[in-house]
Amino acid sequence: MPMHPPGFYKTHVGEFTVTALHDGVIVRDRPSGFIKDVDEATIETVLSQAGFGPGKLVLTFTAFAVESDGQLLLIDAGFGENGPATTGKIGANLDAAGYSADDIDGILISHFHADHIAGLITKEGTPAYPGAAVYVPAPEWNFWMSDDQMTRAPAGLQQTFQLCRKVFGALGNVRKFAWGDEILPGISSVKAPGHTPGMTAFDIRSQGERLLYVADVSNNPTVFAHHPDWQAIFDIDGLDAVATRKKLFDEVAGSNVRIAYFHAPFPGLGFVARVGETYTYLPQVWGVEAS
Ligand SMILES: [Zn+2]
Repeated sequence: MPMHPPGFYKTHVGEFTVTALHDGVIVRDRPSGFIKDVDEATIETVLSQAGFGPGKLVLTFTAFAVESDGQLLLIDAGFGENGPATTGKIGANLDAAGYSADDIDGILISHFHADHIAGLITKEGTPAYPGAAVYVPAPEWNFWMSDDQMTRAPAGLQQTFQLCRKVFGALGNVRKFAWGDEILPGISSVKAPGHTPGMTAFDIRSQGERLLYVADVSNNPTVFAHHPDWQAIFDIDGLDAVATRKKLFDEVAGSNVRIAYFHAPFPGLGFVARVGETYTYLPQVWGVEAS
């Protein structure tokens, strides 16, 4: 196997330094019915054109750190030490970027799927970022931490309900925010439900520049930007997910607002443009700063 250099990438948004931190990649068999009401042959054709192997799904994971005024924030925590063997690189990449877990002052969580929250704790179940306050969307907390919702939820979601109890039970400092709140100076939460009931995007603004972290508004945008109506198996409410996707894409399409995208190919930074009734995802050119 060839050695790869560290998976981090630094850029700037006004006075903020933003660092993309790769947590890893998974190649797995594609479940049947991956996209609701789309036949398997069509899904196979579209995914193979995007470079996926026959019957495969390729999933990549990239969190982001934001540094400003001596404060260091993490946006989503990845799998960390609690995911598949091909993930868990976020800690090493944080170190390679010149930071350490102890430097993290705050962590903003977009939603409670394992690839975003499992990394909040170590393998031993202790806080992975002991000095960090953890900020979570109130609507997401209200859904996943409700025993009533857990009782009513299908079997496929039970693991996530249990993970939420394990992770947040181990953390002392969890702060809930509402949609629309400015959580920290220059960083506001944006309502983005569908993928999960309380999913939240983050609007990052500094000195006239803007970066919109869109979390899991879709999986890999090189596929889903062209198929914004696709309802993936990962989305709890497919119709809401489609509506949120179009709303956020419409907001930034054709503008110089960059998006940061957890499941986009590394470093997960790019732009969206409109193409007829659909969109396309344009990765930011490596090494080129947005104006
Ligand atoms: Zn995800």
